[in-house]
Amino acid sequence: MTNVDVIIAGAGIWGSTLARRFAESGRKVLVLEKRRQVGGNVRCETDAETGIEIHSYGSHIFHTSLPEVWKFINRFTTFNGYQHKVLARYKGKTYFLPLGLTLVNSFFGVELTPAELPAFMADEAHSSAIFDAFFRGYTSKQWGRAPEEVDPSIIKRVPVRATYDVNYFNDYCQGIPLDGYNSIFEKLLDHSNITVRCDAGVRLENGAFKVDADDLPRVPLYYSGPVDALFDYRHGVLPWRTLKFETEKLDIADYQGTSVVNYTEAEVPYTRIHEFKHYHPELKDIMAKPKTIVMREYSAEWKLGDEPYYPIDTAQSRELLAAYKAEAEKIPNLILGGRLGAYKYFDMDKSIESALKIDIGE
Ligand SMILES: Cc1cc2nc3c(=O)[nH]c(=O)nc-3n(C[C@H](O)[C@H](O)[C@H](O)COP(=O)(O)OP(=O)(O)OC[C@H]3O[C@@H](n4cnc5c(N)ncnc54)[C@H](O)[C@@H]3O)c2cc1C
Repeated sequence: MTNVDVIIAGAGIWGSTLARRFAESGRKVLVLEKRRQVGGNVRCETDAETGIEIHSYGSHIFHTSLPEVWKFINRFTTFNGYQHKVLARYKGKTYFLPLGLTLVNSFFGVELTPAELPAFMADEAHSSAIFDAFFRGYTSKQWGRAPEEVDPSIIKRVPVRATYDVNYFNDYCQGIPLDGYNSIFEKLLDHSNITVRCDAGVRLENGAFKVDADDLPRVPLYYSGPVDALFDYRHGVLPWRTLKFETEKLDIADYQGTSVVNYTEAEVPYTRIHEFKHYHPELKDIMAKPKTIVMREYSAEWKLGDEPYYPIDTAQSRELLAAYKAEAEKIPNLILGGRLGAYKYFDMDKSIESALKIDIGE
């Protein structure tokens, strides 16, 4: 472990982007990853029988409007042009999200024009009906609150599209990597200046960073694991929501005709069903096979040991985070980042952007 200029703890998209930048600037980089494989939550598994790419930590669609991020990621993959659409199933009927002309017109059986939509939605009866059908139950499941606790005023903050555009994201660059998400990480980390070790969780002991019993070289360390874990939860545990996934292989070519359907009623225990083959419409052989893989997603209360997915923003969690940040500032050569280190939800493009913005002294 000698001859190392920089250590990156965590080989998710944030750590891998940073590792690549350091390597290309001539520095020797040691990447230490706690899990058995690199890729963080973007990691996928390919089902051997069907060839379907399963997004192990929930559906991931790359989307961005940041030109520098798009340029960077396209050095390591080519995207298939997939445009994300999300449907919502409510009381046995299927609707297109997000909230816009398509949803409102089909839900109320009307034919509003773009100019008529704002006034229609300003009517309390209409906005309440939409809120009850598509937001109340879903939000209560997502955040573990009773439906009556979900604040109806959130509907006022949900953007309404006065168009028939059902593209889920507003970003003009979108897609799924043609050769799969894992290959991005293989390429990002494939550099003569990068050494990767998996099964190598970094911890802090008496002011020194360690992996197993070994002391790490005292060089700058960029840490993208959970910030509270690094300090052994001494101020308390930062709260998260977790997800549970139930994956099933079915003997039919197509289960739901699209990649994601949200189930918006509180009575349906899962929040959405993912059907992964729809992310790769270009793979005609896989599409035609009489088999598909679906994954039901359940949102659940998180406890230590569960996978952390969504940080819970409260006054108390902000206070805890500030205490951990203050601790981190006292450790020389420690830089926190990524979604776990920053305790912040980032889409992949924002994670890359944050890693691209770090001053690495080129
Ligand atoms: C359900 C869900 C769906 C999402 N869908 C999308 C989407 O469609 N599009 C999109 O752009 N973004 C999506 N995201 C966001 C995306 O997952 C994140 O942007 C991305 O994973 C962040 O990368 P990261 O490197 O910061 O963190 P991570 O991917 O979490 O990587 C951190 C890595 O650090 C490792 N680690 C932890 N502790 C240690 C330690 N002590 N030592 C060494 N290694 C350690 C972890 O094992 C992990 O590999 C989604 C997120 C969720 C929760």
